[in-house]
Amino acid sequence: AAKEQGRNRFHYFTPSMQEYARYRMALIKDLRNAINRKEFELYYQPIVDMEQQRVCKAEALIRWVHPQRGLVSPGEFIPVAEETGLINEIGNWVFEKAAQQSARWRTQFGVEIQISINKSPIQFRDEGNTFSDWLALLRHLELASNAICVEITEGLLLDASMGVTDKLLSYRDAGIQVSLDDFGTGYSSLAYLKKFDIDYLKIDQSFTRNLESDSDGVALCEAIIVMAHKLGIKVIAEGVETQFQHDILANAGCDFAQGYLYSKPVSLPEFERLYVYPVDH
Ligand code: C2E
Ligand code: MG
Ligand code: MG
Ligand code: MG
Repeated sequence: AAKEQGRNRFHYFTPSMQEYARYRMALIKDLRNAINRKEFELYYQPIVDMEQQRVCKAEALIRWVHPQRGLVSPGEFIPVAEETGLINEIGNWVFEKAAQQSARWRTQFGVEIQISINKSPIQFRDEGNTFSDWLALLRHLELASNAICVEITEGLLLDASMGVTDKLLSYRDAGIQVSLDDFGTGYSSLAYLKKFDIDYLKIDQSFTRNLESDSDGVALCEAIIVMAHKLGIKVIAEGVETQFQHDILANAGCDFAQGYLYSKPVSLPEFERLYVYPVDH
């Protein structure tokens, strides 16, 4: 039977799969060198405080400028980085960059903008001493622990094997805030948010998009916001693209919003030019 299976597998291994496998191998090889070759860059997307109407946070989003391929999207290389474990090194690079940036904005411009970084479940799995290293860097930079917020995904909360409860508790003890990204796309419930002491919930952009087309979409967002608030969790709407969506979310009491309506993710110099002003005394 094994032989038969093997033959079947061979049978299904088409030239396009061969091409894909070759492409993947090349990608992995290039990914290994990308940090040393300084091919990564962080882009920043402003997060707007809906009541105060100002930028108070930013999400750091990684960009890979490949010397031959040009811009490779994170949707393409993050999964590969996760499968190969390279995400650990990349994730640490992201944290260090973001922390250094936050420190620079504070010391040079007197501006406090919380930076959110995305942390993959794999990074929790392979944590090791990473968390204490991160805390040490924050102390070294004299940053408040809430200068960096960590975005996690619902899948992480559902995987009991990684000791997530304890790990997230140590975040809380250290004062590092946690956001639940892409809320509504997975299987977690609001009860999880309470259990894990999450600070922010990010409504996924698929919900934001539905605000336009059907009234159930509006009811859903309103309900999520009301329930989150009852649990002491603030809400960030993702993927806000129109004034109409903004108005509905603002009326529903949504705390923060992020999306192309305000700004796309922009390069560091662009973000500083637009959002990090020197403080006038
Ligand atoms: P995410 O964390 O949910 O980030 C939001 C994504 O939505 C970003 O895509 C952003 O550019 C995009 N976006 C923001 N506003 C709008 C909008 O109004 N409309 C639309 N259509 N899209 C909008 P991006 O930068 O391509 O990142 C994709 C995903 O890759 C992220 O989703 C995140 O899961 C992952 N990612 C990005 N950077 C990192 C990183 O440093 N580490 C890890 N582990 N994952 C990352
Ligand atoms: Mg995110
Ligand atoms: Mg998201
Ligand atoms: Mg998303």
